[in-house]
Amino acid sequence: MHELSVAQSILDIVHQSVPQDELADVRIVRVKVGTFSGVVADSLDFCFSAISAETPLAKARLEFEHIPFAVECRQCQKTFENDIGFVVCPVCGGVDTAVLSGRELQVTEIELENEKDKIA
Ligand SMILES: [Zn+2]
Repeated sequence: MHELSVAQSILDIVHQSVPQDELADVRIVRVKVGTFSGVVADSLDFCFSAISAETPLAKARLEFEHIPFAVECRQCQKTFENDIGFVVCPVCGGVDTAVLSGRELQVTEIELENEKDKIA
């Protein structure tokens, strides 16, 4: 299952970014997920909960930022977004297009309990 290996790498990133004794304070891990990253957020969430249970990260949960699929047309310089991975320009019908976003999959932020306390 693809999401399981992604969940594992997110777990690895958290372990690398947060000191061992603060792992239990991790509450939110923000993840950027592009429409066409090939990952189903719900399924990723489920896998993450499964492998982080019984670990210091049991209280951590994933929060997703969904990035739409966006394409730029090199012919008319217009950009357009869609949910179906359509790469033909709807304005001029050009096929010389470049994908701007929608394939992201990255951890952008890790929020700890004590950091939240400081902010509040
Ligand atoms: Zn165009």
